[in-house]
Amino acid sequence: MQMDDKKKRQSMIVYVIVAIVAAFAIRSVLYPSLTSGAIEEVSYSDFLGKVDSGEVKQVQLDTGASQIRFTTGDGDSKKTYKTTQFPNDDDLVKKLQDKHVDFSATIPDQNSNLWLYMLISYGIPLLLIFGGGWLLNRRLRKQMGDDAPSMNFGGGFGMGGGLGRSNVREVKGKETGVTFKDVAGQDEAKESLAEIVSFLEHPEKYAAIGARCPRGALLVGPPGTGKTLLAKAVAGEANVPFFQISGSEFVEMFVGRGAAKVRDLFKQANEKAPCIVFIDEIDTIGKRRDTSLNTNDEREQTLNQLLTEMDGFDNHKGIVVLGATNRPESLDVALLRPGRFDRRVPVELPDLAGRESILKLHAGDVKMVEGVDFGAIARQTPGASGADLANMINEAALRAVRCGRSRVTQEDITESVDVVIAGEKKKSTVLSEHEKEVVAYHETGHAIVAAVQNGRRPVSKITIVPRTSGALGFTMQTEEDERYLTTREEYKEQIAVLCGGRAAEELIFGQVTSGAANDIERATKIARAMVTQLGMSERFGMVALGETRNRYLGGGSELTCSDETATQIDAEVRAIVEEGRQMAMKTLTENRFKLHEIAHYLQKKETITGEEFMNILTRDDGFAPKFKQEPAE
Ligand code: ADP
Ligand code: MG
Ligand code: ZN
Repeated sequence: MQMDDKKKRQSMIVYVIVAIVAAFAIRSVLYPSLTSGAIEEVSYSDFLGKVDSGEVKQVQLDTGASQIRFTTGDGDSKKTYKTTQFPNDDDLVKKLQDKHVDFSATIPDQNSNLWLYMLISYGIPLLLIFGGGWLLNRRLRKQMGDDAPSMNFGGGFGMGGGLGRSNVREVKGKETGVTFKDVAGQDEAKESLAEIVSFLEHPEKYAAIGARCPRGALLVGPPGTGKTLLAKAVAGEANVPFFQISGSEFVEMFVGRGAAKVRDLFKQANEKAPCIVFIDEIDTIGKRRDTSLNTNDEREQTLNQLLTEMDGFDNHKGIVVLGATNRPESLDVALLRPGRFDRRVPVELPDLAGRESILKLHAGDVKMVEGVDFGAIARQTPGASGADLANMINEAALRAVRCGRSRVTQEDITESVDVVIAGEKKKSTVLSEHEKEVVAYHETGHAIVAAVQNGRRPVSKITIVPRTSGALGFTMQTEEDERYLTTREEYKEQIAVLCGGRAAEELIFGQVTSGAANDIERATKIARAMVTQLGMSERFGMVALGETRNRYLGGGSELTCSDETATQIDAEVRAIVEEGRQMAMKTLTENRFKLHEIAHYLQKKETITGEEFMNILTRDDGFAPKFKQEPAE
């Protein structure tokens, strides 16, 4: 039986206050007792000898004056000594503790080691008190059995006494309140988790036939795709308790705490089986153990404990361990072997249909006007995660309130898409007319190259309103149909589109600005991937020249080749980007009349829709471009 949380917390607070007061008291007794005066100096080894023989009663370390003062005997025979030549002895504290010597340290005010000072003068008394409390607590429990109404000196407090009992949040499955219905899209993920649900509901069925059920499943995917949500939904579906712990909680833990926490987590889970243990952000503890000297012992111990526990628990009881990470490649291989996280459930960014259903799901929570076209919004948001989409709906609702409306309109959502993608409109940035003109040409450059190169990906919006993200404008492209494979030509087109902004500036103004930094970065990234990962350059062919890092976090790759090859790669990347720039230059030169017209229109209106843009571009006045592919209407 556990005391209910509130009582537990109350007794904790009282205890902490008493402990702190006691610590102060102890310290103030210790402190003034060291007298000065004629002090005999002895060598450090004499000092140690006196410590060993038990003569030493009190020690004061004065790092400012670089001396150790200590007293022997008490009452009339009390004598004070000092030693000034002493090594940096890490064992000293332990030695003093073993001999039960009172000790303290003075550190001059300007000394930055204030924390050490605090630790020694307050931490140790505190630690003793907590340690004592913990022992007492344990004895009480032993005597009365675990059901004893323990004082709970430990009870989830992050210090001394809490050793062991972890602050795992246990939520009864029903209370997670989440089921598969709350997760839109992600059908494959749900399907592979459905088996786990069925196992948790009827572990005995599986046991009867002798089937070994998955112990662990690892949810991998980019941030915000619903991994945490899915794990909760599994518990909700199976109606079992859900223990959640986040890998990052282990990070700032005291030595030895991490492993203890894992042990305790599984102990609790064992009592509550069938249940789900969910370790979020597992990469923070499950990182590959490296062979270098600079290992993190604490993390390794925690990981080892996790591995041991996963091997140890009785599989037929129905404990399933779910993990979630967005950096699967950094996980220790031992975690992935059969019997541990042997099942991998990809939770990818939602596709077109997925985005639409996520938008609809979250729109269900707010009041909407009738007939909002979610499909159109889904098309404008390729690459958005579930969390982004949820955020968009919320932003839209906030906007509706700001505008004093009681329902969310299509326009609210369209506007909030921009906010989530590019940040709020920034009123404080006031561009001069000339700057506005440059930005207008820049954005129109992107749009024209995009439209001419690839009519299938029309532009949905161009704007030159500065955003809080630092963007001075942006061109939004929509995706008409979902693509899973991208050809070499399409990558080259993407690069050309990214070069379109800078190319327009060069063409019209004969000079370049800093506004293209982000474009350049993205174009280079694509070109580099083409060369090192996708086998799309003639020069290197199908050789992987790099290892992917952080696939889900948008990270690039790490080169695994000689310096000489790296130099050649750089040259190849430069050539690809240059080719894109020329493609953009050519397109814009051929369509410079339209470029002028649209840019000036944009400069005047600040934001134009894809429709307005296409109307001007395709207007048959003798200057309409020859499209590479016929534009979709
Ligand atoms: P992750 O753990 O993958 O980083 P979360 O599960 O924490 O992502 O998702 C964050 C939020 O985004 C969720 O609380 C939910 O509101 C929303 N969300 C993400 N994916 C989906 C989805 N597939 N269906 C519905 N909501 C989602
Ligand atoms: Mg998460
Ligand atoms: Zn640009």
